[in-house]
Amino acid sequence: MLKFNGKIHPHCGPCGEPLWKSDRVHTDTMFEQIQHVDCFTFQPKYIKDTGTFGEIVSRHPIYI
Ligand SMILES: [Zn+2]
Repeated sequence: MLKFNGKIHPHCGPCGEPLWKSDRVHTDTMFEQIQHVDCFTFQPKYIKDTGTFGEIVSRHPIYI
């Protein structure tokens, strides 16, 4: 299991791959998860935020 700042590295639910700073991701309004843009499994109306993983965690440190 990859570690990130001493914690388990955040990963994308659908594909299970670790999320890297340059990956394009969506967060969702229902489960507060991060998923790759290409893996997003919910309807577009549930997209909360979009950006690179690095941008998202700088705005929402809850995700790391
Ligand atoms: Zn993914």
